[in-house]
Parts: sequence; structure tokens; C-alpha cells
Amino acid sequence: MGSDVEEIKKKLDIVEVINRMLPLKKRGRHYVACCPFHQEKTPSFTVSPEMQIFKCFGCGKGGDVFNFYQEFNHTDFRESLEELAKIAGIKLINNYDEGQNKNRKKILEINIEVAKFYHYILTKHKLGETAKKYVIDRGISLDTIKQFGIGFSPDQQSLIINYLQKKGFSESDLIATGTFGKSNYGNRLYDRFTSRLVFPLIDFRGQILGFSGRVLPGAKKEAGKYINSPETEIYHKSQMVFGLNLAKDSIRQDNTVIVVEGEFDMISPYQAGINNIVAVKGTAFTEEQLQLLRRYAETLVLALDADFAGNHAAIRSIELAEKLDFDIKVVDLLGKFKDPDEAVRDNPDWFKTRIQSAVPFWDFIINSAINTYGVETNKGKKQVLDMTLPFIARIKSEVIQSDYLHKLATMIGSDTDSVKKEMNKKQVNQYQDLAKTVLIEKEPEHDKRDEMEERLVVLIMGAKNIVKVAKRVSQQLQFATIKWQKIIDLILSGVIDWEKPLDHVPEELKDIFGGTFLTAQGEIMESIHRKNEIDKLMAKLISQDLKNIIADSAKRVAKFEREDNEVELQKAEKENIEALFKLSKWQKLQK
Ligand SMILES: [Zn+2]
Repeated sequence: MGSDVEEIKKKLDIVEVINRMLPLKKRGRHYVACCPFHQEKTPSFTVSPEMQIFKCFGCGKGGDVFNFYQEFNHTDFRESLEELAKIAGIKLINNYDEGQNKNRKKILEINIEVAKFYHYILTKHKLGETAKKYVIDRGISLDTIKQFGIGFSPDQQSLIINYLQKKGFSESDLIATGTFGKSNYGNRLYDRFTSRLVFPLIDFRGQILGFSGRVLPGAKKEAGKYINSPETEIYHKSQMVFGLNLAKDSIRQDNTVIVVEGEFDMISPYQAGINNIVAVKGTAFTEEQLQLLRRYAETLVLALDADFAGNHAAIRSIELAEKLDFDIKVVDLLGKFKDPDEAVRDNPDWFKTRIQSAVPFWDFIINSAINTYGVETNKGKKQVLDMTLPFIARIKSEVIQSDYLHKLATMIGSDTDSVKKEMNKKQVNQYQDLAKTVLIEKEPEHDKRDEMEERLVVLIMGAKNIVKVAKRVSQQLQFATIKWQKIIDLILSGVIDWEKPLDHVPEELKDIFGGTFLTAQGEIMESIHRKNEIDKLMAKLISQDLKNIIADSAKRVAKFEREDNEVELQKAEKENIEALFKLSKWQKLQK
């Protein structure tokens, strides 16, 4: 495997590969972009063509072309190996069709067969006639049915199971896909989606990861109206965004993504020419879904159920979206329709104008509060404030926040100052609650040693004479983290060619060495400031070591006293006093 990796790395230029997925700009010796792994407005994601690595100075992610591919595409190592081998035009020497990857591939393979079968039943077979009529009656054309691969799982479950078994798939293969299960009694396979209309759940790369099914109206079904594949090796509900495979180009083009709740809410508008649209299941987004969408667009237009603002999970998702710097807007269907599907079927143009006039999230909240409670009575006004202020309090920009306070004040016939006071009162209560939870959920004390040592190595690598500075530090300080000590030893050994810094670095240290070096290069610093920071950090780290020595030797002093061991006692006392003495000196230097 190692040789494949090396071969691929030799053939591929990391700049060219990343550029396929994330447009890069040249800056000096490096290439930069806004980081795809955290949100930012000025680029701190840096790619070094010399070292063939990337590093983000914002979130710290970094590594080689394999690390990037895996992180960006949410794949595992083997998948990235195969994909990068393809790009490099290399035939893999070893057979990777084993283990986990083999399972994934098999599930994908079966899913394609299952989708084909269901689709065939819906479009061509008499067992699918009723279902087909239902879909067509909902205004979905045959072309659209084909485009989305919509299908129907017939009542006769043996049909699909026999079909797949004839193709050579075993019972355990079928169960691994999540589409099939085994009944406790009778010990027979069953199809989870039987008698349901079925939508393949396709990821942004076009792979069928699972399915969702819904019963036809009038069907006597006790089971849920809507079901999804269970979590499998490849299907993870929290990452699924329905329709993204078809919509992603339009989303990128418009820099806007419209988000709806159900499959038909996405399919109907898409058919009507609104192509930058996707569906998430339910009103709550996960962070993974939002991050995925954030790669394509800055504006998030929500066309969700009218009551979503009262839904806690939905509100949390909106906060998440805010954190990712989405510009969030809401489509108001003006109470005329229950969902986008209904609206589009009635009048696609009207729906399009509603999207055009989507309002910022905060306006939507104020409008719906006023529509719900009215502002004619004091009670109504109070309810409007109760509902809206918690939202307005969360607006990050003070300018925008004061705009909304003003707007709200005008609408309820009050003045901005009073409304603001009201908001601050509520916030005080909120913070008190927050403080309580922080006390309860306080995270365990984080070990800062590794971080401090990393910073010290960065400072050393940024120095004009790296070896000299490394020498000065290492004469006084022993790094507690093995990897940093190894790097310092490597620098001191003098083998590094600073023009081609990774050439003589052992394989296992390459990522970390390269990332740190790149970080160091990215930072411009006066050498006097550098020296000061190095000295302070050293003082801190050495003080830490000394405190450990003091505590440890004090224990030994007590022990040897108890044991009347005069010789050892004197040694321990000496060690203790010396450490105390040194500590007082180093602590002065920390300031
Ligand atoms: Zn980042």
C-alpha cells in the first residue's frame, strides 16, 4: 500500500487536485482559499506546492493530498486511494477489494439494482400501476420520475429478493444494505419498503446510499407513513441532503440554496425550473448537512412548514446556520398553502415570486409573532416581545440588532430604548441559566502542554537561524510531548535542507513537520517579539516542570522522613529547594 501512496503522491500535484474541488488563488509561494472545513471570510487555508501539503491557520486542519481528499469528501482512506489513483492514472498494485471497502462497494452495487428494480415496477409493471397514477396525478412527469429514479416496492416481496439472489447476492449482503430485514418468526427476508413509493437517497457524488419510502394514500398500513433506510455502513441520516446531486451546480451558480422538508416539496419546484433546491428530512438540520450546503452557497432560503419557528430543534438549526455565516431567509407562503409542493402545483410562478421576496429570518420572526398575537392589546404586545426578543438578542451584529429593535418598537408602538431594556432583562436571565449549566457541564481541564510546545516549535521554525534558536531552547527545556522533542532533535541533527524541508524528514513526522513549518512561514513577526514570546513560553513550560519536581520531591521528603532514611532525605530536600529556587527565577521571566 505504501508504494501506491508514494506513487500517487509523485504523480499528483496537490495544488491541481485541491483546485478541482476548491478554487485556489496564488499568493506568494503558496496557494490560498477560504477554508472548506471552518467558516471564514479571509482565506487562511494554505497549500504549499513545495511541500505538497495543506494547512489551515484558522482551524488547524492540515495534511497531504490524501488527508484533504478524505476530509473534503467524507470518504475513508481506501476510497480516497482509489479515487486519487484514478486521477493520477495509476493502476493500484494491491487488491483493495477487501474488508470494509468491499462491503461498501457491495452495498452500493445492490442499491443500484434495488433502485432499478423498483423503478421498473413503477414505470413498466402492472404491480406499479396504482402508484404510477398517484405520482402522475401529483403532477410529476415521467421524465422527472426517471430523473429522480422514483420507484415502487411491490407487495410481492419475493420478486425483488429472488431477483437479487439470482444475481448472486447473499442474504447477509442484502441485510447489510438496510433495505432488507429478517423476521423473527419464519426466518425469512422481508423488504422494508414493501407497498411503498420509494425515493433513492443519493449523495452529492451521485451514489445511492439508501432509500426513503412513503405509503400511498388509502393504503392500510400500520407502519409509519414515511420510512428511511436504517443507518448502514454507508447511509447516515445526519449527512443526507436530498436532491443535492441534481441541484448542486445551480446552488453554486446562484450562491443560494432553497431548503424544503419532503421529497415532493423538492421535486415539484425542481420540475418547475427552480433548480437550486434540496430537502432535509424534518425541520432540524444537522451541522454536517449545513456544512455540506455551505460549500455551495452563502444564502440559505428556508421554505419549511409554517410552524417551524415554534420548533426548538428548528431554532437550534438556525443558530447553527448563523454560526456558519449563512445569510438566512424565509419563504412565507402567506398561509395559502401548507407546503411548497402544494404551492407549486397550484401556481409555480406565484411560488417563484414568494422565493424572490423571501425575507430575512428576523423579519419573518417579527411578522409571524405580530400575525399570531396582534399588537392591539398589551397582552398581545407582551407576547410579541416574548417571542421575538430571544431571537433578536442573538443577532451578532450590533448594527443589525439595533435596526431590528427599532423596527420592532415601531411595530408595537413603543420606543427603541424600552424594547432594548426589555431585551437586556431577558438576556440577564438567560445568562444566569447559562452560567448554571456551564458550572454543571464544565469541561475537564484541558492539557495545555501540547499546545504550548507546538507554539514554541512554530516560533522556532519561523526564526532566521532555526538551528541556533532550537539549540538555545533545547539546552534549557525538555519537551514533554514526544513528537515535538523528535522534531527539535531532527532540527538539531542538521540534516534538514530548509529549501526542501521535507526531504530528510522521516515519513511518520512529515505531516506534522510540514504543517508546523508552513504555519511558521505564514506568520510575519519582528525577531524581538519572537524572542520575547519564546522566552515567556519557555519560562512557563520550565516552571511547569519545576512545579512537578517540587510536588514530587516534597512527597519523597515526607516519605524518607517517615522512614528515617537520612541519605535519601537530604537528596530529596536538596532537589526540592533547588527547584523552588529556580522556579522563583523562571516565574519572574514569565511576566
Ligand atoms: Zn480551517
